[in-house]
Amino acid sequence: MSARLIDGKALAAQVRAGLAQRVAALAARGVRPGLAVLLVGDDPASAVYVRNKIKACEETGIRSFFAHLPASTTQAELLARVRALNDDAAVHGILVQLPLPAHLDAQQVVDAIAFEKDVDGLHPTNAGLTLAGRPHFRSCTPYGVMTMLDSIGCALAGKHAVVIGRSNMVGKPMAMLLLAADATVTICHSRTRDLAAITRQADVLIAAAGKRNLVTADMVKPGAVVIDVGTNRTPDGRLTGDVDFAAVREVAGAISPVPGGVGPMTIAMLLANTVEAAERSAGLAPMPGASQPRA
Ligand code: NAD
Repeated sequence: MSARLIDGKALAAQVRAGLAQRVAALAARGVRPGLAVLLVGDDPASAVYVRNKIKACEETGIRSFFAHLPASTTQAELLARVRALNDDAAVHGILVQLPLPAHLDAQQVVDAIAFEKDVDGLHPTNAGLTLAGRPHFRSCTPYGVMTMLDSIGCALAGKHAVVIGRSNMVGKPMAMLLLAADATVTICHSRTRDLAAITRQADVLIAAAGKRNLVTADMVKPGAVVIDVGTNRTPDGRLTGDVDFAAVREVAGAISPVPGGVGPMTIAMLLANTVEAAERSAGLAPMPGASQPRA
């Protein structure tokens, strides 16, 4: 039987409709959430991502501040831009589109963002708070995946969740959020031996390697929930994930497609973090609570 489809596009529209209401409540208090987006250089894929994020902001009532800086921008110039945005009260969230041109040090730039405005959740303070089980901003892609799992009523406690990928942006924060939801988590990566033997144990499988057709039907436990984070191009230029979708959907219990899965959710959660930042600055949302130690 064919797996249930987790429609990220439809879910993202629902999330955004909820955010529009919160934006309206903020407007009634004279606050408009603002997201600053810095794009450096001329990477065509980055330009598309940025355009989609700005469009989504506008559709949700979030003000966007967009700066497109030349590829020749120096580290000092970029850091100065970030610091100016840190000091700008109209800006609640700051996003520096990655990757940056090779001569720039991305980590130093991310580190320079005030962690209260780091709506991408990449600042070491936010990574650390996520590790401690009291996230201030959840990294957008893993946050989107968690929202997708929640949307199908996937109870994670005690389940075996396998994450393929260990990047700071996706794999590691993904594993931490799953752990905080009481899943038993295994992280796989490029040096993992016998990947298939591990993925076959997964009740929930998150593929975030950036390798087309990495996950085949024989690697998936019947009935498992499969979320495909990967974005790759086929030789004829189509967007595709890490999962052999057509074959795996015949084995899995639920599956997210690419496109129309995690991508739209990542943008929706960026907006959610920005609205949350504005609510915090207006005193409408509590700052995240104290750590809840887990046994
Ligand atoms: P990355 O290149 O930083 O990390 C990839 C990870 O996959 C690494 O940890 C590596 O060890 C692991 N890996 C690579 N080959 C593997 C293999 N054969 N077996 C097991 N593990 C392997 O990439 P990233 O930033 O974490 O992104 C991962 C993928 O998700 C990419 O395709 C990226 O484009 C996509 N992505 C999508 C969204 C979205 O919104 N849809 C957001 C972020 C990333």
